[in-house]
Parts: sequence; structure tokens; C-alpha cells
Amino acid sequence: MAEAKDVFTIHDLRDWAAVNADLALPARLAVLGDPVAHSRSPQMHNPALKAAGIDCQYVRLHILPDELTEALSLLKSSGFIGVNVTIPHKGGVFEAVDDMTEVARRIGAVNTVAVDGDRLIGHNTDAPGLRRAIREEFSMDLTDLRVMIIGAGGGAGKAAAVQCAMDHCERLVLVNRTVDKAKALVTELQGLMSDPEKLEGPANRLVAIPWEEKAMEREMGQVDLIINATSIGMKPTDPEVIPQRLIEPYHLVYDMVYSPARTRLMAGATAEGARVANGLGMLLWQGAMAFEFWFNREAPVEVMRAGLAGVEAVKK
Ligand code: NAP
Repeated sequence: MAEAKDVFTIHDLRDWAAVNADLALPARLAVLGDPVAHSRSPQMHNPALKAAGIDCQYVRLHILPDELTEALSLLKSSGFIGVNVTIPHKGGVFEAVDDMTEVARRIGAVNTVAVDGDRLIGHNTDAPGLRRAIREEFSMDLTDLRVMIIGAGGGAGKAAAVQCAMDHCERLVLVNRTVDKAKALVTELQGLMSDPEKLEGPANRLVAIPWEEKAMEREMGQVDLIINATSIGMKPTDPEVIPQRLIEPYHLVYDMVYSPARTRLMAGATAEGARVANGLGMLLWQGAMAFEFWFNREAPVEVMRAGLAGVEAVKK
């Protein structure tokens, strides 16, 4: 019996019974993306499956955009329990599923799919995963925070913004290079943010601003949590997400980027006395919530955390 390959393709999926016949455990869960080789999801889900005594494994599926429709159809006939979805398929899968959760509908993107007979049910665990990570890292809930999201026009930024609005956070400042995308999101979220329980302060509770130093500077005294939802920070040559001088010691800074583990934003914010965290917690909790969506049981979170960290869980 062979170990699972690092990455499977549509050609493998077309003959999944033959693939599974060669594996020690049948592959019934996967992350589906393009590219997908870098995904850390198998690293947390396979130890979780083992710890839960579920006899199957989780693999990577490299699916090109023009293969997506066929791939989703093959999942149903190949014994899959579900999949996670990553770049660039979160929007395409949103269009293709038969039903979805409220949070996925509001975000307009699906990152988790459960196969239910002949139907695909979509969910989005990025948003509640972020909420849980913020609580764990900073012992604060989104509902009590004034939040600035940089990169609000992207998929992860929109997920974060929808979650903040659904949680009726104190204030929401949406920052984006292409400011029109942030403005469109303000229009979408207006209803959710007009909560009669929350008092209107001197500043608007929901605003969109361009990714410009002066515009961000004006908002800094009226936000608590700053979230980087851009991909800036993954490369050493990347620019600053926000000028370091604008960060104050009372700020909480959450960088969705987790590779490198300590980004330039985190280093700069720490130097200013702010509390910081990287995106690994969000990755962990979105995975744990996907596990719970598939199996309707509590995820072995500590096993998953240890898997992500690349160490063996301490056996009690
Ligand atoms: P995306 O849809 O491509 O969105 C990228 C966002 O970043 C857009 O708002 C874009 O602005 C902005 N942006 C990109 N390059 C920029 C630059 N050079 N200067 C200014 N703004 C720039 O990507 P995504 O899927 O949302 O992912 C965003 C980041 O979140 C990635 O680093 C991803 O790895 C991370 N992420 C982490 C987790 C986790 O679990 N930790 C989960 C999901 C995503 P425009 O609209 O102007 O183009």
C-alpha cells in the first residue's frame, strides 16, 4: 500500500476507486485549489482524523478553474465526505453548491463543502475562524472592538468584514487599495451595522477609506483592532501594510499572513508596544470548524494545533 501522493489531479479523480485501492486509508477529504501544493491543511486534518478514529485520509487536489465543475460532480460519485476550497475556487464553488449556510451566503464565498448524498452544501469557516482566533489571541470579542480591516476588497477581507458586521462590532473601517470595492462593501453591510443597541459616536460606525497614509492616520485614534487581510508581508521585499509610526501601544494587530511566522507588520507593531498575532490561529480554527461541519462532533483542536506546528501531540 502506497502513501498518498503530495498532490492529486483531475486525472486521478476520474478514477478515484483505483487511487483509493492503492492507499493505506481511503482519501475521502481534500483541499481543492490551484496552486495547492503549499496547503498545510493535510498536516492538521490527518492527525485529527486519526485521533477521532475516523478511517480515512485528507489529501490535496490540484484543480484548474476549467476543471472545477467536473471535479465537484466527481466528488459526489467518489465517496467524498467533503472538501476545503482555496484560491481561486471560493467564488466558483459558491456558485455551484446546492445549498449553503447563512454566513457563506453573506460573504459570497465557500471555503468548506459537505457532500450530502447527491447535494453539495457550502459553508464559510474563514469568518468564524477569525472570530475565534481573535478571542483566543487577545481575549476580546469582535463585538466589543472598533476594527480596521486593510484589504477589505479581497476574499479574506470581505469574510472578516461580514463577521464583524454580523457580530455588530463597535466600529468598522474598511481600507482598500481599490477603494470602490470597500465602498461597495459598506453599502452591503449597512443594514447589519445599523444596530439600535449601539450608540452612534462622533465618527461613523461604518466607513470605507483608501489605502493611503493620511486617510488611515485620521482613523487610528478610533480603532482598537487592525487586521491585515492583504497578502502584503509574505515576501521580505513587500511594502509596509501600514506605516509603523501610526501604530499605538493600545492597538491589537492581527496579521492573516502566517508565513513568515513573524511578519514585518508584527515586528513593527511590537516595537510600538502593540499586541500582535499571525494568521495561524485563523487557519487552525477554520479547519476545526470545517471538521465539525463534516462530522457534527467536536474537533480535536489541540491535535490539529500540534499538527500545524509540525510536532507530535503530547499523548496523555
Ligand atoms: P485576495 O482576494 O487576492 O485579496 C487581496 C487583497 O489585498 C485585496 O483587498 C487587494 O486590494 C489587497 N492587495 C493585494 N496586494 C496589494 C498591494 N500590493 N498593495 C495594497 N493592497 C494589496 O486574497 P485573499 O484570498 O483575500 O487573501 C488575502 C491574504 O489573507 C493572503 O495573504 C492569504 O494568505 C491570507 N489568508 C489567510 C487565512 C488564514 O487562515 N490565516 C485565510 C484566508 C486568507 P485590491 O482590491 O485593490 O486588489
